[in-house]
Amino acid sequence: MAKAHVLTSRADDFPRWYQDLIAKAELADSGPVRGTMVIRPYGYGLWERMQQEMDTRIKDAGASNAYFPLFIPQSYLTKEAEHVEGFAPELAVVTHAGGKELEEPVVVRPTSETIINDYFSKWVNSYRDLPLLINQWANVVRWELRPRVFLRTTEFLWQEGHTAHATYEDARDYAAHIHRNVYADFMENVLAMDVVPGRKTARERFAGAINTLTLEGMMGDGKALQLGTSHELGQNFAKAFNTRYLSKDGRQEHVWQTSWGSTTRLVGALVMMHGDDNGLRVPPRSAPIQAVVVAIKGDDGVLAKVREIGDRLKAAGVRVRVDDRTDTPFGRRAVDWELKGVPVRIEVGPRDLENGTAVLVRRIAGSKESTAIDALSALLPRVLEDDQALLLTQSRRRRKDRTVEVTTIEEAEEAANSGWAYMPWARLGPEGEAKLAERGVSVRCLVAADGSVPESDDQPGNVAVMARAY
Ligand code: AMP
Repeated sequence: MAKAHVLTSRADDFPRWYQDLIAKAELADSGPVRGTMVIRPYGYGLWERMQQEMDTRIKDAGASNAYFPLFIPQSYLTKEAEHVEGFAPELAVVTHAGGKELEEPVVVRPTSETIINDYFSKWVNSYRDLPLLINQWANVVRWELRPRVFLRTTEFLWQEGHTAHATYEDARDYAAHIHRNVYADFMENVLAMDVVPGRKTARERFAGAINTLTLEGMMGDGKALQLGTSHELGQNFAKAFNTRYLSKDGRQEHVWQTSWGSTTRLVGALVMMHGDDNGLRVPPRSAPIQAVVVAIKGDDGVLAKVREIGDRLKAAGVRVRVDDRTDTPFGRRAVDWELKGVPVRIEVGPRDLENGTAVLVRRIAGSKESTAIDALSALLPRVLEDDQALLLTQSRRRRKDRTVEVTTIEEAEEAANSGWAYMPWARLGPEGEAKLAERGVSVRCLVAADGSVPESDDQPGNVAVMARAY
């Protein structure tokens, strides 16, 4: 099969390979305004699967979906000092509308802490109203200077959770719960991604937060990508918006808050984490199409058979697509499914039909074997689960192989050229972090000596995880 040279190889030029893959697997196109993107149906299908899986977990965590306006009065952004300072350079501001200059400019939401707090301050009166757990699925705009499709776009799709709690402890535990039971669980068990859960240093914290929890993933080239974040906001926004409640003992108290977000960046992460030189490899649990049944030739018997196999697999609970476009050469279609990373391909031609067999091609395991058609329905769910597990194992192995322990800034910088470096935080510290940042290496997160998430930056034994990042 002629599949060589469809994509630039990853070893030759990883960023170019990424761009090629996004275009050829029909995931997205760039939009007319710099930094924007058009998400094509197959790319959107991947996002929809992510949404479904995350939405279920978010609801299991007790949050409900709601929707707040896209436009935020500019004055709201300025109410929390650090927040406005952090976001000011990225804001898109509307000054004219309806043919007139607006009295007060409005900001296109870069995130919704401010407007949501305005409403929380109206909705929360007593301790009985808490915790208030809200999630929103929406688009946001951040005017990025170095955009890259899916990874960093000026408009992106996301979910943003916003919660209010009666106590510091309750908010802290909820931010950790989302970090672990929504994000880490989803990324490992659905996206088959090896992730490092950790705590951001003060330098990398979200603007307005007292603590940011992150999940960092190692991409195919050894660089890091921040996959999702969960913030403890303390009482910063509550004070700015006067979000208060009457406590059990009759006092007015400010609420404690969290916010947390994950975005269409995850589609890009899936590509960079699991893709190979032939294209994407989609983990079966997150695949909009788990198996494609391909008619090799347009012979009536073959067409009837692929449709029958499709029906049977669907009944067995597999997300299946029948490819009967026999006016397109088979080789081209095979390359296309390979590029799109559909986990399993079942190929049927006239000769297979005579033998009651089909060729089962596994994109992730890389195998190809003749299989009895009657055995497919029972076999497929197992094959898909095995391949799901294999992808996670591969991504874990990559991080293990490409991580080194270092003791100096120079060693960290060197190690970051091919992977990640671990160094005691007590040795590196904020000054070392700043020096490394000048050389393009950042502390992705801090982890505790036993691999858990530290409760403070200065917890003894903390280790800094350093890398170059997307
Ligand atoms: P934040 O609200 O800044 O914590 O962002 C939430 C998550 O959005 C981050 O963890 C990133 O993974 C992701 N993200 C941030 N900026 C962008 C962007 N420009 N495009 C896509 N995803 C982004």
